[in-house]
Amino acid sequence: MMQESMNKRVCVVGGGFGGLTMAAYLAHAGYRVTLLEKNNELGGRARSWRSHGFVFDMGPSWYLMPEVFERFFSDVGCRREDYYDLQQLDPSYRVFFQNSEPVTVTPRIAESEALFESFERGGGAKLREYLKAAEYKYDVAVGEFLYREYRSLFQFFNWRLMTEGLKLNVFSSLDRFVGRYFRDERARQILQYAMVFLGTSPEQAPALYSIMSHIDLNQGVWFPKGGMAAMVAGLERLLRENGVEIHLGEPVQEIVVENGGIKGVRTAEGEVGADAVVVNADYAHAELELLAPEHRTYSERYWRARTLAPTMLIVYLGYNRKLKNIAHHNLYFSQPWKPHFDAIFKHPQWPDHPSYYVSCASYDDPGVAAAGTENVFFLVPVSPRLEDTDEVRERLVQYVMDHFSAVSGNDMNSDILLKRIYSHRDFRSDYNAYSGTSLGLAHTLFQTAVFRPQMRSRKVRGLFYSGQYTHPGVGVPMTFIASRIARDIVRQEVV
Ligand SMILES: Cc1cc2nc3c(=O)[nH]c(=O)nc-3n(C[C@H](O)[C@H](O)[C@H](O)COP(=O)(O)OP(=O)(O)OC[C@H]3O[C@@H](n4cnc5c(N)ncnc54)[C@H](O)[C@@H]3O)c2cc1C
Repeated sequence: MMQESMNKRVCVVGGGFGGLTMAAYLAHAGYRVTLLEKNNELGGRARSWRSHGFVFDMGPSWYLMPEVFERFFSDVGCRREDYYDLQQLDPSYRVFFQNSEPVTVTPRIAESEALFESFERGGGAKLREYLKAAEYKYDVAVGEFLYREYRSLFQFFNWRLMTEGLKLNVFSSLDRFVGRYFRDERARQILQYAMVFLGTSPEQAPALYSIMSHIDLNQGVWFPKGGMAAMVAGLERLLRENGVEIHLGEPVQEIVVENGGIKGVRTAEGEVGADAVVVNADYAHAELELLAPEHRTYSERYWRARTLAPTMLIVYLGYNRKLKNIAHHNLYFSQPWKPHFDAIFKHPQWPDHPSYYVSCASYDDPGVAAAGTENVFFLVPVSPRLEDTDEVRERLVQYVMDHFSAVSGNDMNSDILLKRIYSHRDFRSDYNAYSGTSLGLAHTLFQTAVFRPQMRSRKVRGLFYSGQYTHPGVGVPMTFIASRIARDIVRQEVV
């Protein structure tokens, strides 16, 4: 453990995965750390909601890139298994289509190849080739691109990118890239659906993101026993063991600056002095609402010009019976699916025939629902630039529940013990989400790496940013990586 920073105090604003891991890294590096969270519980978008015997993970449910989490725990001198247990899901997920039978994706690659062969002749061999290329890109991305800070265009357009940019498919779109391999719509959808989790569309995403198929098809889909709630509880314990002071239900109202440097943060309880502040809360919220204009790195105009990631319309449901014909993770892809992406990114409107995701955590985890009941949520990606009224929410929720009844053979409208709808205005009021976006900034090429908002404030000494708005971006593993990068920056600057 580094001891040199023992006397320096750092405030972390926000207790999402970005803030929790930031606090763990800084405490391990020897800083005195205070974490301030607006809500009464930790986890941010990954917090849980407990009611009537159900434990819902309110946000993320796919645990991908397990090696990133192992690396974090090893970095802070701990073992992941002392904080939560992990299991690999089998099946990984189930996919429902508009005009054909549902299919099941398993962790076994030979079965995935057989599945793609059933979609089109030669599909198995093409999948093998596609995944080999994806694995190569993944290794380069993790080894060279993800775990580093980008401060200048020169760093980004480095020798490796210039010589290998074409091979790494940084400059072409995923949609076109996948189309070079597969004609069958189902194959193409399975290889591109993860773009929604990155908050972008296959047309706008660089083909480099084909690494997502290496992640879900080769590495598999994992699950922390007890869900993300168990991970958050494990991290909270780790922080308390390492002396982090945690303030819950205490929103930061102002980042206090004196003579161009950090003085601390102000909350309703008073001022907390600090040598440095790391913001995990939404970047735009901190810049526009917690800092005076002269201390902002980015203007209001900058934020208005960003491509926002989708937000999510979610309905949490507790059923008083078991469901059939489904898995833990279930995806429905509409056909054609482009109109739904256009309704999110090009011409914002509520989608007519959306693709959607259905989670059923009780399929694998008896701890999240009482015996004989089922813990379910539906998630529909929608544009953040929409008015979120009770009427439109209800209409879309009813549409997907009726629709999934038809495609899955379960009556999703009966035996409901619990129902809660969550969307734009909830993200805004619960997390200070800019414009109600659940995922922050979309992963277009010009919002990747050096083009994402910087971790170091350009105006205030001792002010830093981490979490999903910064590089490498959206997704639970990415926020863990961002904290590691930010830790190195703080260690350079706050000594
Ligand atoms: C519905 C949904 C499903 C998702 N599914 C997946 C998935 O399956 N797998 C995956 O890897 N990723 C998924 N993601 C993405 C992933 O959850 C996020 O990228 C990640 O959790 C973001 O973490 P964060 O720490 O950057 O932000 P947050 O979790 O938003 O944390 C920021 C924290 O700051 C707090 N805060 C805000 N303002 C203040 C203030 N003024 N003072 C103090 N605190 C403040 C907020 O309350 C919040 O706790 C999903 C996201 C959503 C919303």
